[in-house]
Amino acid sequence: MEVEQNQACTELLQLVIDGQATKEQHQELMKHLEECESCREEYLLSKVIKESLKSHVKANGTPKDLVNSIQNKISDTAASIK
Ligand SMILES: [Zn+2]
Repeated sequence: MEVEQNQACTELLQLVIDGQATKEQHQELMKHLEECESCREEYLLSKVIKESLKSHVKANGTPKDLVNSIQNKISDTAASIK
């Protein structure tokens, strides 16, 4: 599978992860994540790392649960802006 890493979406991803994105940029990314597998994986990975640093997920959940819940959130957000 050929997935070209798009510079623009990488920057958008970074903004959202850093919490510096506007609401519009955030929604744009959510929509984009539905279609772009490489960004979605990168986003999920960053989220999982951030969340696990923040809230010691080991105690009450596996990173896999976290990935699932984030994936659901992406679908919900993307669905709501379609
Ligand atoms: Zn992308």
